[in-house]
Amino acid sequence: MNNITQFRPGCANYGCVKPVARIATSTTGIHKYRPVCGHCHKASYGGGKWAVGVTPVKKDFCENIDGRLGFTCTTTVINGCQLDNDHINGDHANNDSSNFQTLCKCCHAMKSKMEKDCNGTKKTANWQSRIAQKT
Ligand SMILES: [Zn+2]
Ligand SMILES: [Zn+2]
Repeated sequence: MNNITQFRPGCANYGCVKPVARIATSTTGIHKYRPVCGHCHKASYGGGKWAVGVTPVKKDFCENIDGRLGFTCTTTVINGCQLDNDHINGDHANNDSSNFQTLCKCCHAMKSKMEKDCNGTKKTANWQSRIAQKT
């Protein structure tokens, strides 16, 4: 075990006050969280009911159909499993609903590729170091 205290944001969904669910912990002790709580995650794939008063931030289409990423989405979405909740600014500690957009897997992969910094390091490395700086 380690003593790293890491900010754990609240669930991104409207009306939900639960803390987000943890996906994994890196070898350096940094936790990786889902954008939503465990209850909402389950509900999103039909594994349970949405809590009363909770509205998901995730939409049922890719928001890049408006070309916001610099190209226009042409993916045909037939199931919600093709869609991701994306942190717009890449900061996984910022779970404000305004920091989310819904992207299909294709567009999300392109966004991640475009956001790699000039060293070629992945975005996840960046948000982990940003969290480390905050604590
Ligand atoms: Zn929730
Ligand atoms: Zn898309």
